[in-house]
Amino acid sequence: MSDSTVSGTIAFLGLGHMGGPMAANLIKAGHSVVGYDPVPAAVEAATGHGIPMAATAAEAAAGAAVVLTMLPSGQHVLDAYRGVSGQPGLLEVAAPDTMFLDCSTINVDEAREAAAIALEAGHRSVDAPVSGGVVGAEAGTVTFMVGALPDDFETVKPILELMGKRIVHCGDHGAGQAAKVCNNMILGVSMIAVSEAFVLGEKLGLTHQALFDVAANASGQCWALTTNCPVPGPVPSSPANRDYQPGFAGALMAKDLRLALNALESTGVAAQMGPLASKIYDEFAAGGGAGRDFSGIITDIRDKSAT
Ligand code: NAD
Repeated sequence: MSDSTVSGTIAFLGLGHMGGPMAANLIKAGHSVVGYDPVPAAVEAATGHGIPMAATAAEAAAGAAVVLTMLPSGQHVLDAYRGVSGQPGLLEVAAPDTMFLDCSTINVDEAREAAAIALEAGHRSVDAPVSGGVVGAEAGTVTFMVGALPDDFETVKPILELMGKRIVHCGDHGAGQAAKVCNNMILGVSMIAVSEAFVLGEKLGLTHQALFDVAANASGQCWALTTNCPVPGPVPSSPANRDYQPGFAGALMAKDLRLALNALESTGVAAQMGPLASKIYDEFAAGGGAGRDFSGIITDIRDKSAT
């Protein structure tokens, strides 16, 4: 694919918490973007950021060089690609050889299916889920984990660099989602382990600071401890210091762990911690933690512990 394709219009579908600021960064960089979102509040916010909006997804995609999706789930992505309820699919309306760039977090199998149908329709396909949250999306500092053929990676890299700081080529189609799901399974499991250790330390009479000072410089060291510490005090910037305002919301951790669970099941991995973490975060989200930072899991552990 030539450079001229990269400089063509990007149809940006899904202008929510993440997509809105990401599209705004493309506009700020001088890229031609046309947006689409079915929700009026998202349209209003996007228009306020100077993003020209199309009336339908098909209108946005027709004539675009890149169709970038930032949608809630894999079903949303596949429905948009194929078309639903009599609406034409994006694969049908896009010009031949269009780059379909999906940045949503979806199942690995769904990402591979999306790539297969895009290729079958004569297009190109890349999965590039992100980590870094809304703050990173606004600041243009997210990490993109990319599943793409080598040439396609080189094509999308300059676009991704306008919205993120680290762009990692993880392998072929689906590899970006695979990396994301593996990383977030580590994160969910390690946050539960760190939280259980702090509650155990409390029971054993250890101060939070003493446990932190030891574990942060010993073999218990991890991001869940030293950046997103689930107790207030040792890491002043962690959500625990602001009553667990996210941060990374419990609902999103529950979603990502369900994706990990699906991947574990479809590959037959004999995992125990990942499925348990998925169950624990499903309960956390259903019990009022959906909008709280995922480190708030420590309050559930403390509440359920013997007094
Ligand atoms: P969101 O719900 O705020 O935004 C999704 C947007 O997609 C909504 O505005 C919705 O109206 C729109 N939409 C739905 N169907 C559409 C369609 N057919 N065409 C166009 N737009 C459509 O969600 P978000 O927080 O922006 O997350 C988007 C994706 O990024 C998700 O897959 C999520 O898991 C992932 N993600 C989110 C975060 C985060 O911190 N919010 C971090 C990393 C990854």
